[in-house]
Amino acid sequence: MVIMDPIPYGKHDVTDEDIKAVIDVLHSSNLTQGPKIREFETAFAEYVGAKYAVTVSNGTAALHLSAMALNVKPGDKVITTPITFVASANCVRYCRGEVVFADIDPETFLLDINKVKELLAGADHKTFKGIIPVNFAGYPVDLEAYRQLADEYGLWLIEDACHAPGGYFRDSKGEKQGCGNGNFADLSVFSFHPVKHIAAGEGGMITTNNERLYRRLLNLRTHGIQQDPGKWIENHGPWYYEMQELGFNYRLTDIQAALAISQLKRASQNLKKRQQIAQRYDAAFKNTPIETPKIKEGVCHAYHLYVVCSKKRDALFNYLRQLNIMVQVHYIPVHCQLYYRNQGWKKGDLPVAEDFYQQCLSIPMYPTLTDDEQNYVIQKISAFFD
Ligand SMILES: *Cc1c(COP(=O)(O)O)cnc(C)c1O
Repeated sequence: MVIMDPIPYGKHDVTDEDIKAVIDVLHSSNLTQGPKIREFETAFAEYVGAKYAVTVSNGTAALHLSAMALNVKPGDKVITTPITFVASANCVRYCRGEVVFADIDPETFLLDINKVKELLAGADHKTFKGIIPVNFAGYPVDLEAYRQLADEYGLWLIEDACHAPGGYFRDSKGEKQGCGNGNFADLSVFSFHPVKHIAAGEGGMITTNNERLYRRLLNLRTHGIQQDPGKWIENHGPWYYEMQELGFNYRLTDIQAALAISQLKRASQNLKKRQQIAQRYDAAFKNTPIETPKIKEGVCHAYHLYVVCSKKRDALFNYLRQLNIMVQVHYIPVHCQLYYRNQGWKKGDLPVAEDFYQQCLSIPMYPTLTDDEQNYVIQKISAFFD
C-alpha cells in the first residue's frame, strides 16, 4: 500500500525569506547586471574559501567557459570520469577537444588516479592538456594528488564540484581542503540547478585563486567584451566598449542571484542535515545486502546524492518506484551515450564504471526529508531484502 506522496530522490527548499529576496529584486531597478551578482560572488567565494568567483547562467556554462579560459583547442585531450553528468565531458567537445574517459575507483566511485597515471604514462602523453575530476555524489576528490600529477605532466585541473559545495578532503598535512577553494584546481565549477545544494532556478559558478583566469572569465561571460577599460586598445567616448575575443552571454540575472544568496545562508545548516540523513541510512543498512558509501576518514562528504549499490538494483528500483519512492540511477556512464559511442567509445571499455552502473541507486537525500519519510524509505528497502 502506498502511504505517502511521492518522495523524490532530491528536492529544493524555497522559504518565504527566499521569496522575499526575489521580490525585492523585482521591485528594484536591476533585474540583471545589478549589485546582486557581486554580492553572490563574494559570499560564495567566502563560503568555499576561494579568492575569486564568477557566476554564470548554469553549471554547463561554467564548464564551457572554464575550458575556453584554459584554451582547449581541437585535438587537445582531456581526461575525465564516465560516472558523472554528461556536461563534465561535453565542455571539452564545445572547444573541439577530445574526451578521454578513465575508469573509476571501485571503492569511492571517483575517477581512478591510477588509471589516469596509466594513460599519461603512454607514448602520446604530450597531447593531454588537462584533467576534470568530479566530486561524484558529493565525495571530495583528493585534489592534492591530482595537482602533483598535473604538475608532473604540465596539465591544468578543472574540479567539477557541482555535487560538493561545503565538502572537504584532508591534504597530506591533515589540513581541511574545501571543495572549490582554489588551492589545487585551476578552476572549480558549481551548479545551482534546483536538485543541487543551492537552488537559483538555473545558475553556475566558477571559483579560482588565479587572477588572470578570473579576469578572462569575466570577459568571456559577457561576449568577450573587455571589462577593464584600462585594457582597451581604443576609446571613442563614454559609450565605448571593446570586444576583444569571442565570448558568450552567460550572465546570471539578479533575480536568480538574490534567490541563491538567500539559499546560501542556509547552506551549512542544510549540509549538516544531509550528513545526518546519511548517518541514519548508513546505520539502517549496516546488516543488509545493500552497499552504502565507503568514505575515507577525515573526508567531509557533501551528499548531493546518497548512492547505494545492489546486485538486485533493477528489481529494487521498480519496487521502490511502485511505493512512490522516486529513486534514480546516477549515472549512465558517459562513454556509453550514443554521442560518445559515435566518437569511438564502446561498452566494455570501462568495466568498473559499467559494473557500478548496473548496481547503483540514488535514494532520497535532501535537507527537508522528514524522519517519517526516511523511516518509510528504510523500512521498505529493508523489507525488500527480508
Ligand atoms: C548538474 C551538473 C552539471 C551541470 O550543471 P547545470 O547547472 O545543470 O548546467 C555539471 N556537472 C555535474 C557533475 C552536475 O551534476
